[in-house]
Amino acid sequence: MRIWELKDVIAFDKLGQQMHDFISELYPICRSITGEGVRETLRIVQGQISLELHEVPTSTDVLDWTIPREWNIKDAYIMNSNGERVVDFRESNLHVMGYSVPVKEKMRLSELRKHLHTLPEQPDWIPYRTSYYNEDWAFCISQNQLLELDDDEYEVCIDSSLEDGYLTYGEYYLQGQTLEEVLISSHTCHPSMCNDNLSGIALVTFLAKYISTSSHRYSYRFLFAPATIGSLTWLASNEENVHRIKHGLVIACVGDPGSVTYKKSRRGDAEIDRVAKHVLRHYTEDYQIRDFSPYGYDERQYCSPGFNLTVGSLTRSPNGEFDEYHTSADNLDLVQPMYLADSFIKVLTILDVLEDNKTYMNLFPKGEPQLGKRGLYRKVGGPDIDMDPLAVLWVLNLSDGQHSLLSIADRADIKFDQIRNAANVLLDHNLLEEIPS
Ligand code: ZN
Repeated sequence: MRIWELKDVIAFDKLGQQMHDFISELYPICRSITGEGVRETLRIVQGQISLELHEVPTSTDVLDWTIPREWNIKDAYIMNSNGERVVDFRESNLHVMGYSVPVKEKMRLSELRKHLHTLPEQPDWIPYRTSYYNEDWAFCISQNQLLELDDDEYEVCIDSSLEDGYLTYGEYYLQGQTLEEVLISSHTCHPSMCNDNLSGIALVTFLAKYISTSSHRYSYRFLFAPATIGSLTWLASNEENVHRIKHGLVIACVGDPGSVTYKKSRRGDAEIDRVAKHVLRHYTEDYQIRDFSPYGYDERQYCSPGFNLTVGSLTRSPNGEFDEYHTSADNLDLVQPMYLADSFIKVLTILDVLEDNKTYMNLFPKGEPQLGKRGLYRKVGGPDIDMDPLAVLWVLNLSDGQHSLLSIADRADIKFDQIRNAANVLLDHNLLEEIPS
């Protein structure tokens, strides 16, 4: 039985808009790897799903790392000698380099320039910069803003704090029929940018909400954590349980017009890798599949050699490969409901195949069973049964307890749905028996 109905296109269109609205709500919040912005974001996620928030104190050792002090910011500006804010944090939180230490000083432009980041090749855009593990302060402004700064004396203020506090992450667990888990992870540490990382937060939130209403074989663990330090923290706190993770996906950058990109797990031939490849090949015209590389998002941690989890990564344009990446142009116009919905369908289709990728035994393996006397011969493909006769023959032939439905689908070069439909009809006629995994 299909557990998720994927054909309800109208509902999925609405879902794209809902995800976009959700991104719009989260967009103004100033997030970082710690601080109130992350808490506020996760509280808004709690409006959709029963997310559990974890607070891990500053200075806690996590694997080879240490939880940093908590960073918060109230205000920041650069003010000219006329008392005008020429750069104002209230207009864009990207104006302050993330984790900037507090500062309140007067300085000439020549001195201030040492603390200004711009993007000369995109003169209207504000770059996104951070300095988490190195105490510093800076402003990020557009190149055009820089050109307008006169040789004046400026008051520079960053009203931030770096104090002992907590790293906050969110976790939502949905138990299935088995304790074997699917891990779905998204990062939460970016301020006002939409594709990286709000599109991932939105997709994972609505995915969790959707799956919570379905019956599912696997248990699902949805993780919302700051990049790198957050997944390290989760791994450090859950080392004894990670063996339950059978499949995983890191989800980010899923709202832009680029084609869907799947990056394989470090193992390269894990079930999630084969499922993603099948789904993209059969259900998508334009896609990319890449081998694992130790660059990107939190798959770097999940696929580190000491864990080597079967976690792949799904994006549209990968990190660093779209012009708007890590700039103010990664905004509400870049991400569009149709791309969010399309990404959602791809992820759900991957999970749908994983859920039903079972292995069967043909109960009449000596010769072909006679389909005619069971009413299956030539009836196939009729209005009542969506069944491909070739798929039936493949399922009967390869259901020897050694081939999962996905491996049959790949071997036959037939869509998983057709193979599954054939298996379901054969099960209904007592021609197959499921082999427990
Ligand atoms: Zn990023």
